[in-house]
Amino acid sequence: DAGMEQLHSLIRDVADWPKPGIVFKDITPLLADPRGLALAVEMMANPFRGQGIELVVGAESRGFIFGTAIAQALSAGFVPIRKPNKLPRETHQLTYDLEYGQDTLEIHADAIAKGQRVLMVDDLLATGGTMKACCDLIDRLGGEIAGVTVLIELDFLKGRQKLKPYDSVHAVLTY
Ligand code: IMP
Repeated sequence: DAGMEQLHSLIRDVADWPKPGIVFKDITPLLADPRGLALAVEMMANPFRGQGIELVVGAESRGFIFGTAIAQALSAGFVPIRKPNKLPRETHQLTYDLEYGQDTLEIHADAIAKGQRVLMVDDLLATGGTMKACCDLIDRLGGEIAGVTVLIELDFLKGRQKLKPYDSVHAVLTY
């Protein structure tokens, strides 16, 4: 439809970045466009209206951009997942494998109460490693993952398969 067309037109393909052979989806033109930004937030949040979402969780850095806006759209709070040594109090930490090497993410140990209904947000789902790690952290804290929402899913990388335990994985745009 027209909205999706508009969003597609605001995402730029950047060849060979960050490495040769990778086509990077650059969302900065979409973020800079007032209607595009509003539409993206609305389309990411809409399936989760009326679902009793209490907290939106997003990972540093791009998960923060849409995460806080979606939290406001759903009248929920926002909880950040951060890179190591950024959060001041007791944390839970998780190290996960990347294509080359590893990455570590942290969340405050008391950020989520047992049974709180959480919506996970990121800009883009690629291999699913980042989102799976975030979901594992929420599980460990006892949060209930009510859904996962992303702007873009790179379908051919099969990230959705890593998120099988979660029944509501929503992508606005699929490539
Ligand atoms: P994954 O862990 O392989 O699913 O990678 C997803 C993470 O990497 C997300 O946090 C994205 O922000 C980032 N990412 C990977 N590929 C792209 C891209 O083409 N454009 C923007 N972000 C990307």
